[in-house]
Parts: sequence; C-alpha cells; structure tokens
Amino acid sequence: MSFEIKKIGVIGAGQMGNGIAHVFARAGYDVRMLDSNADAAKASLVKIGANMEREVKRGQIEAIDKAEAMVRITSGTNYADFSDCQLVVEAATEDETIKKAIILELCNHVPDSTIIASNTSSISITRLGAHTDRPGKFVGMHFMNPVPRMELVEIIRGIATDKDTYDIIKELTVKLGKTPVSAEDFPAFIVNRILLPMINEAVYTLYEGVGSVLSIDTAMKLGTHHPMGPLELADFIGLDTCLAVMHVLHEGLADTKYRPCPLLVKYVEAGWLGRKSGRGFYDYSGDEPVPTR
Ligand code: NAD
Repeated sequence: MSFEIKKIGVIGAGQMGNGIAHVFARAGYDVRMLDSNADAAKASLVKIGANMEREVKRGQIEAIDKAEAMVRITSGTNYADFSDCQLVVEAATEDETIKKAIILELCNHVPDSTIIASNTSSISITRLGAHTDRPGKFVGMHFMNPVPRMELVEIIRGIATDKDTYDIIKELTVKLGKTPVSAEDFPAFIVNRILLPMINEAVYTLYEGVGSVLSIDTAMKLGTHHPMGPLELADFIGLDTCLAVMHVLHEGLADTKYRPCPLLVKYVEAGWLGRKSGRGFYDYSGDEPVPTR
C-alpha cells in the first residue's frame, strides 16, 4: 500500500471529535477540525489542551509531547481546510440527515483520492457511502469514548468499501496504538448492538420502579464488575446518542425488543442529555454527581 496519510480532517468538535483529533495529533498527524457551531470549534482546542494536560499530570506524556501535538491541530468552520487531507473522519451528531448533508458537502472540497470515514455508532455505512461520490473510499471507523483511553476501534466495511480502504484504516488504527476489530455493516455493528440494549433495559428497570438510579448502577457495578453503572454510562455517552442508536436498532432490525424506553425519550425531549448538558440520570451541577431518581 503506497497511500500515505499526513493530514486528517475531523468533522464535529464534540466529545468524540475532540478525542479523535487528540489521538491523531499525538500520533504525529496534522489535524484540521470543523464544527458548524463556531463556539464548539473554538472550545475544542481548549478542551483538547486540558485533556492532554491531564495526561501530562498523570505522567502519561511529557509536556513537550503535548506542545508538539497541539500545534498540529487547527479548528474552524470552513470545509476548504480539508482540501489537502488524505482522510476525513466525520464525528458529528448521530443523525442520518445531518451526516448525509456533511458528506455531500465534504465531497466538493476534497480530492478524489481522499478517504472518508464515519465514526457513527449505528448508521449504515453502506447507505452513507452511497451518498458520496466514492462509496469504495467510504468506511466506518468507530472509536470508543473516551478516545485517548479506549483501546478498540471497530472498522466497518460497507458493501461497496474497497479492500484497500479497509486495509489503510486498519493499518492507521494500529499506528494509533489501538486494536482494530472488523464488524459487518448491520445496525449498530458489534459494541453498540450489545451495549445499548443493556442500557435501554436499565432505563426500563428505572421506569418500572424496579430500582432507583443508585441501586441499578450499584447492582451492575458490584454484581457484574462493570466499571460504570449503565445509567452513569448512558449519561457519559449522551442520552441523545443512546436514543438515536436504539431508533436505528428498532427500525433496522424491525424487532420490538429494541423499542426505546419512553423514559429515555422523555429525558431527551427535556434536553437532559447527560454529562454534556449538565443533567441526565445524574445532576452534574455540584462537585459530585447526584442521582435524580
Ligand atoms: P456531541 O454532541 O458531543 O458532538 C457532536 C458535534 O457535532 C457538536 O459539536 C455539533 O455542533 C456538531 N455538529 C452537528 N451538526 C453538524 C454539522 N452539520 N456540521 C458540523 N458539525 C456538526 O456528540 P459525540 O458524542 O461527540 O458524538 C459524535 C458522533 O460519534 C456520533 O455519530 C456518535 O454516535 C458517535 N460516537 C459517540 C460515542 C459516545 O460515547 N458519545 C462513542 C462512539 C461514537
């Protein structure tokens, strides 16, 4: 494979986009970030800097590593910044309409050789790829949250994804120090096909009054040795993302066992999206998260 990646674009400067930019810059790649929200684009550099500072304090990287990585990242709102990127990773809101509009626009600004990857948690890579001018160069590159700490990247081959594209992304994943796992293009792939129904069931358990937020999370942490309880984890992922994944499973597999819990729907309708909005199953306004039910 002679395809060399030097500069990588990242679309969406939320929690995942920031983490993805972080690991690419730390691995020596130049990174161009874009968000439709100019404030989010600006805030991303501050957040990535703070996250790298935490790694310096923990002794995981040197201050010089942080300084060198930070100069490799720029962030803005302009697609023209991607004109010399060999790869662009889309990590915007989990909404098919939004993602299709982004990749359609992106195709106008990158060379034919540029690979486009989506970090989607659940949406069909085949369907998104068919929306581009390069289905063979479109692939799923699904990082886990928090990106700098989690070892796995799921690589999803759409029906039209070229073998070369898949191999390049697999090799890149290894260069990032992460482990690739191959998943076929079915709704929510592997990790979220298994994880999200468990989280949805935890919300049903709360909804039906089987346990409180604290008892459900404590039961799962101490009873199954999960590092986080399912409701705590849902807040960490983002309740809007959890709901979007359940919709994709429900519609894509046409099985009522994937029906999103009405309480999850209600929380998202209220704008209680978890950590990122300050409230979900826990209230994050104080020093310690406080269960809300
Ligand atoms: P987030 O809400 O933190 O960030 C989404 C960002 O996308 C926001 O900054 C928003 O302004 C931006 N955005 C929205 N529309 C846009 C547009 N048209 N153009 C450019 N930017 C736009 O969400 P997140 O948790 O970072 O998730 C992003 C993606 O990563 C989703 O596809 C999600 O499913 C996936 N993902 C999330 C997790 C997780 O645990 N949260 C894990 C793996 C994958």
